[in-house]
Amino acid sequence: MNKSRAIYPGSFDPVHFGHLDVIKRSTHLFSDLIIAVAASKSKGPFFSVEERMAMLRETLGDDPAITILPLEGLLVDFAREHGVFTVIRGLRAVSDFEFEFQMALMNRKLEPRLETVYLTPKEDYTYLSSRIMKEVARFGGDVSQLAPSCVSERLARMRVRNPGAE
Ligand code: ADP
Repeated sequence: MNKSRAIYPGSFDPVHFGHLDVIKRSTHLFSDLIIAVAASKSKGPFFSVEERMAMLRETLGDDPAITILPLEGLLVDFAREHGVFTVIRGLRAVSDFEFEFQMALMNRKLEPRLETVYLTPKEDYTYLSSRIMKEVARFGGDVSQLAPSCVSERLARMRVRNPGAE
């Protein structure tokens, strides 16, 4: 088991400044970070896994400490496959807690070696979620303060292509 490695799993549909804040904090704590992009089909994702990974790659550049991989199936299987048993999750508010607590205990039940580490973002980002950002963009709102330019420009272009979107 490699203790200096961690997995940050999520949908990242799409990535925003809250995720990036957690990624930055994680790279201060761990020498290697795997960002695992979950298909999350049940959430009806807006972008494909490939598009979400491409936006992360474009944003994070070529950092040797960060690997971006697709996550299919169970996180515990992914953790075993990579020999990494530390999982990072972001906690924005109390509202995140119940779901995260349940997930952490279920994951530990499935794989006792798995530990979940919670990081809180800078307070400016505690209100931010991919869902609310997509909602703002859908109605033509400016999301350039919420996400990297490759994401906000892409969301704006999609709005132009679907002017009837509401
Ligand atoms: P999920 O994994 O539930 O589909 P996301 O992909 O949106 O959700 O987020 C992945 C992880 O990043 C989760 O741990 C989530 O709590 C965290 N996260 C999302 N938004 C923020 C934010 N604004 N600040 C800090 N952490 C966040």
